[in-house]
Amino acid sequence: MSTIFKKIIDREIPAKIVFEDGLALAFHDVNPQAPTHVLVIPKQEIAGLDAAGEGDGALLGHLLLVAKRVAYELGLKDGYRVVINNGPDGGQTVDHLHVHVLGGRAMGWPPG
Ligand code: AMP
Repeated sequence: MSTIFKKIIDREIPAKIVFEDGLALAFHDVNPQAPTHVLVIPKQEIAGLDAAGEGDGALLGHLLLVAKRVAYELGLKDGYRVVINNGPDGGQTVDHLHVHVLGGRAMGWPPG
């Protein structure tokens, strides 16, 4: 089932897009948890990490490389955190795979 992220891909609702290629889209999170908080998503509708299969390995790697590129382009020179929330206990609220890129402040550990 399509989510709000599919509507962002299709430009049916607005987003502050920072990167796009044939496979992926990156845009600022509407409810940022850090000074910089970007989501990197595949254009392919995959519900979450659990729904990714062996054949999605290259796409998953691509999403991480896009995350790194976006972090660099947004000036996160002191570091950043990359997060994938999966399922209810993971805190996933949108059922379209997404990689959070958070930076601009020091992150705590363990995460909440
Ligand atoms: P998660 O809780 O890991 O599923 O992350 C979903 C993220 O999507 C949350 O951080 C939300 O703030 C973000 N989000 C939800 N709707 C939008 C939207 N329309 N534009 C940008 N980010 C959104």
